[in-house]
Amino acid sequence: MIRINENYLKLKASYLFADIARRVQAHQEAHPETEIIKLGIGDVTEPLPVACREAFHKAVDDLGCRESFHGYGPEQGYSFLRDAIAENDFQSRGADITADEIFVSDGSKCDSGNIQEIFAQDITIAVPDPVYPVYVDTNVMAGRTGSCVDGRYENLVYLESTPQNDYLPGLPEQSVDLIYLCFPNNPTGATATANQLQQWVDYARGNKAIILFDAAYESFIRDDSLPHSIYEIEGARETAIEFRSFSKNAGFTGTRCALTVVPKELMARDSNGVAQSVHALWSRRQSTKFNGVSYPVQKAAAAVYSKAGRREIAQLTDYYLGNARIIREKMTARGLTCAGGENSPYIWINTGGDSWEFFDLLLNKAGVVCTPGVGFGNCGQGHIRLSAFNKRESIAEALERISSVL
Ligand code: PLP
Repeated sequence: MIRINENYLKLKASYLFADIARRVQAHQEAHPETEIIKLGIGDVTEPLPVACREAFHKAVDDLGCRESFHGYGPEQGYSFLRDAIAENDFQSRGADITADEIFVSDGSKCDSGNIQEIFAQDITIAVPDPVYPVYVDTNVMAGRTGSCVDGRYENLVYLESTPQNDYLPGLPEQSVDLIYLCFPNNPTGATATANQLQQWVDYARGNKAIILFDAAYESFIRDDSLPHSIYEIEGARETAIEFRSFSKNAGFTGTRCALTVVPKELMARDSNGVAQSVHALWSRRQSTKFNGVSYPVQKAAAAVYSKAGRREIAQLTDYYLGNARIIREKMTARGLTCAGGENSPYIWINTGGDSWEFFDLLLNKAGVVCTPGVGFGNCGQGHIRLSAFNKRESIAEALERISSVL
């Protein structure tokens, strides 16, 4: 008799964004005349940069000739892309990362979700609260947690991000083995200084732990004093894996390209206490289960690092940051306390009341979709997240409507 993986039954009833979609659909059916403005899910709205499209087209044409045809590519990614990433994203900032430590993939969601497979079942895991749900749910599926009780899974250590600590969680009081961090943060928009990251790296070294550092939003950093990569921090090569994505900087949410950095020094122990290479394990995992990103997509991604590509990326991220500034200013003017929105496309708003009630108010009275903070964890209660990923006109219209109902 075929049976299921019962860990899936522990998952909270539905994925946050599916829950939101259901409410939005119900509202739309009841009020077909309302033009709903979505400031909820973090999908981009602006088209792919010209530089990326041109490279994409050309690469498709390459596939049309026997001489320049490409079949299966290297699982870890083409070196033209990995070289460009190593040089532009890391070495140019003093982070000592080489191309062979970079694994190109079709998304940071997959990578940050799949990475747990290479670690032991009985490790102690720390996750921020609120958190990007993928980190938690993939560990639930893998059976590393108990049940969900009052919004929290047993056996996870929650790192609380609250107004009291400016949404920057402190180090865990106990020893943990795997730590998920994300800066600039989704959902709070909080950023971490080099000193703050140094404390995490020192903690990880002291506890022989590994940090999973999600830098999906690093391209929104404008404050020159803030690190873009954890590898700008001393000791991080021995303690951290970093995830990056082309989704939010270059609009690749539908095109799909991302990368994971696993330094060669990074070790984890087997049950005999012998150090094993995490790079080797991830390489083995990827080459078994993943067949690489398509050649045209990698060519399009590499164009991000051309002169024209860099200029267009800066314009795109500036555009969303301009939206973020307007949202933050308007909401602050309505007397609400906001975090994020600077160096981040997300604005985390302290509404003081129930998150879903505020969500329903904005949907039903203003026709605007936000993300209820509690959907990201218990500490998100009393907050909502607004996303700057939308057209400027829609942002302006949404803010007018919100102002009129507050
Ligand atoms: N990491 C974080 C923190 C995100 O917010 C997202 C997407 O919203 C991702 C990763 C997913 O990125 P990708 O599109 O590369 O899968």
